[in-house]
Amino acid sequence: MPTYRDLIQYSQIERFDAQVLLLHVLQKNRAWLIAHDDETATDEQHSTFAALAARRREGEPVAYLLGSREFYGREFAVSPAVLIPRPDTELLVELALERAPQNGKVIDLGTGSGCIPITLKLERPDLSVSALDLSADALAVASNNAQALGASVRFVESNWFSAVAGEVFDLIVSNPPYIHADDEHLNQGDLRFEPTGALTDGHDGLHHLRTIIAAAPSYLQPGGWLLLEHGWDQGAACRELLLQAGFSDVQTWQDLGQNDRVSGGRCG
Ligand code: GLN
Repeated sequence: MPTYRDLIQYSQIERFDAQVLLLHVLQKNRAWLIAHDDETATDEQHSTFAALAARRREGEPVAYLLGSREFYGREFAVSPAVLIPRPDTELLVELALERAPQNGKVIDLGTGSGCIPITLKLERPDLSVSALDLSADALAVASNNAQALGASVRFVESNWFSAVAGEVFDLIVSNPPYIHADDEHLNQGDLRFEPTGALTDGHDGLHHLRTIIAAAPSYLQPGGWLLLEHGWDQGAACRELLLQAGFSDVQTWQDLGQNDRVSGGRCG
């Protein structure tokens, strides 16, 4: 009969992943496992863990196997209907928190799991936060997350701004699909299992960024910020698009890996 240590050792997946999956099966923390790793696993624990390890060997992302991922210190439920939250996106959240005016109206375009608007609302309860997505399945995940975390966010099914025509915001944020359709990373790692429509625009990667930047001035208060996450090589193109659309204070910020990750500007 295998011990917990055996399950990890013979799982044929990365040790860290094996540990995380086993902790999920056992519903225990790391300290508990270190103290008890020579105990024998029950048949049920063994078979549940073996099934998860088999899926991991086929490449399924750990976040989908666990059904959740941490973002900005909170757990968000995720399913294959939504992009897995990335630490890179915390930069977008921080920049938004610094720029959102007191009691401001904020909107997130293409919200996916809802990790951006929910974090903004929980960090800044004064804000009035809306979030849009084209996918009803993604919105179901996002609104469940909002409810579970106690965040009051308005979710609307919308193709970019279509459902909020006539509304004006103090801050617009978005992490749109920005990967080039030919990027080989789409066929590697976690990305193979994530919703393609949340990763790539099916074109050059700038298609949705162009659409959002061109439309945003009609939905922003004078002086309101537009902040966009983008790929490491899209900073210059985004700044150019922002300048063309009449934005001022146009700039690009780098993520923790020193890659250009967010660009933005002020309306007018
Ligand atoms: N940051 C993600 C990645 O490169 C892509 C997210 C997106 O397209 N918005 O894996």
